[in-house]
Amino acid sequence: MDLQTEEKIPAERSKSERKDGRPLHGKVAIITGSTSGIGLGIATAFAKAGASVVLNGLGDHDAVEKTRKSLARNQGVDVQYHAANMENPDDIADMVAFAHKTYGRVDILVNNAGIQHTARVEDFPAEKWNQIIAINLSAAFHSMKAAVPKMREGGFGRIINIASVHGLVASVEKAAYVAAKHGIVGLTKVVALENAENGITANAICPGWVRTPLVEKQIVALSEKLGISIEEASVKLLEEKQPSKRFVEVEQIGEMAVFLAGSAASNITGQTMVMDGGWVAR
Ligand code: NAD
Repeated sequence: MDLQTEEKIPAERSKSERKDGRPLHGKVAIITGSTSGIGLGIATAFAKAGASVVLNGLGDHDAVEKTRKSLARNQGVDVQYHAANMENPDDIADMVAFAHKTYGRVDILVNNAGIQHTARVEDFPAEKWNQIIAINLSAAFHSMKAAVPKMREGGFGRIINIASVHGLVASVEKAAYVAAKHGIVGLTKVVALENAENGITANAICPGWVRTPLVEKQIVALSEKLGISIEEASVKLLEEKQPSKRFVEVEQIGEMAVFLAGSAASNITGQTMVMDGGWVAR
């Protein structure tokens, strides 16, 4: 059985590469929260690698439509959009069903949608706690619950959960975020083990600071708190946690996701791929 699986995946890759030459040609990927930041970076990397892409996320209809069309045109792939709200389990099931109905398969699922709120535990609004747990953790449970049976049908699956260094270590004022990210690291391992013999892998990517709108808000808050410029605040933010003193780029996370989705990663499962400029090394 093991040997057959090892044989099957390279053969499948060479068949698809003959058609298009791109590593993810013929694959169908859903990326949650892909109208901005890291999710959009991963969607772009997948489209460049030849996958059909289902975008998701909040945002102005015209802006989302512009992103969808330009991604499809620039990369020569089909790109769809589903407006599922990650707080709503029925929406999430509908998004997976939509991808399956549109393409007849679901190969890759990236759980990326996420939000942040910072406050000490005693000041943390309960509704913010519930919202962060719903979007950053429970949404991944609901999407995997819907997608795993579809992946089993196809005998192939790649689940990539965007956790964070906060899935491994804590910071003050991030109770819900740290709890959700630790949770998603554990959840990833469970799904990896449950599907280890099914051709389905599940891994988490754990980035350190990435300069996206989610982090920009924290840079602005720091600059206001300390009365320093935005650029000084961004340097301070990096210096405090990230030894490389450089932001991780969304393109780098996109490349890591393409690697995890490809045939070279068929035996990498239940792992945390940490991209943090040394944050958790000390
Ligand atoms: P971002 O704000 O740029 O993007 C977040 C995306 O999630 C957007 O597309 C947004 O529309 C979507 N989203 C938010 N609420 C949603 C909802 N209810 N339903 C559907 N979509 C929703 O942020 P980002 O920095 O790109 O974050 C993406 C992921 O990366 C998050 O899970 C975040 O925790 C994680 N992450 C970010 C960093 C960082 O430094 N930026 C570091 C580690 C992990």
